Amino acid sequence: MAAAMPNEVTYRTKGMPMSSIADGQWKKTACILCENNCGIQVQVQDRRFVKIRGDKEHVSSHGYTCNKALRLDHYQNGGRRLTDPLRREADGTFTEISWDTAISEIASRLVAVRDTHGGRSIFFYGGGGGQGNHLGGAYRQPLQHALGARYRSNPLAQEKCGEAWVDAHLTGGHTHGDFEHAQVSVFIGKNPWQSHGVARARTVLKEIAKDPDRTMIVIDPVRSETADLADIHLQVRPGTDAWCLAAIVGVIVQDDLLDHDFAAEHLSDQAPVLEVLRRVEVSAYAQICGIPEATLRQVARLIATADSVSTYEDLGVQQGPNSTLISYLNKLLWLLTGNFGKPGAMQPHTWFAPPWAATTPTCSTPRSPARPCPLGSCRATSSPPRSSTTIRSASTP
Ligand code: SF4
Repeated sequence: MAAAMPNEVTYRTKGMPMSSIADGQWKKTACILCENNCGIQVQVQDRRFVKIRGDKEHVSSHGYTCNKALRLDHYQNGGRRLTDPLRREADGTFTEISWDTAISEIASRLVAVRDTHGGRSIFFYGGGGGQGNHLGGAYRQPLQHALGARYRSNPLAQEKCGEAWVDAHLTGGHTHGDFEHAQVSVFIGKNPWQSHGVARARTVLKEIAKDPDRTMIVIDPVRSETADLADIHLQVRPGTDAWCLAAIVGVIVQDDLLDHDFAAEHLSDQAPVLEVLRRVEVSAYAQICGIPEATLRQVARLIATADSVSTYEDLGVQQGPNSTLISYLNKLLWLLTGNFGKPGAMQPHTWFAPPWAATTPTCSTPRSPARPCPLGSCRATSSPPRSSTTIRSASTP
């Protein structure tokens, strides 16, 4: 268990007495080191964060930070950080140049490429939203538009490629759990105690663990800090998460624990999927993943009968065997039980919709009926994967 963190830190700028460098004025901003963007307050001196603390008035983080936010001065002012652009010269050495020079040289070269080869020859590769600084994403679309560039990617294409593919075909976009209100929370290859991804992660995990009416389920071969807090730790054999999930979803289908009303209203093409899941040999799968069959059946019933369920799959499974299948099974877990678009359940991302929607649409893959080409001219596939369950609309039901 990690030690308690201070909720405020103070840095001393070399050679200056503290009384002369802090004007005592707290400025509101946000931590950019992960997708949660916790609200923080800082006191600044030149480029230094002299003091940092959580912002208790922030609408979602309520003063919470992890230790990374309190080290933001180190990340911004660490001695090895570049402070000026470096231009590579013909002999391979680098020359320090001004920002104005760098920006104008880069712009003129991009324009030359666009004018000679067309905007489609320019590929945009940006930071993933997981790094938490969304400014690159916000400015990306105007830049692409100015250049006529159609194609882009980011590090999430390596980390979460399979999940993105499944999302595109199932719902048209990524979803996120409402763990603050979920009656049942399921973490699959995910240890939010350390990696966050859940707002106020440690506070929320402790709240769930203390509440007898809520249940935390962790599927992970590792006895992580989150697993320590869980009501049920399914400590699968490494690499067998797919069998564990398939058995749970199989029980939900075979014992007719589906949310039929939700399925009738919001799902399509589920018949061939249900037919496959009816044939899952739960007992054999239980042996493969090393979890007692009775426990898998108990978990399936718990999930299917809960008022609300949120799930989170992460790199523990996404960088392992059968990762795309695991993503599909994870999403079947909450789709077949109707846990989408209601409090405590899975939600589409919405908070950035206006700025994203206001900018120019660009081409991205995979295409599916749930996520058609915004340009109307994409040559990528428009067919859903064979035997997929898809949600009819990308909007919240
Ligand atoms: S959880 Fe930590 S790293 Fe993520 S935004 Fe909050 S303080 Fe920053």
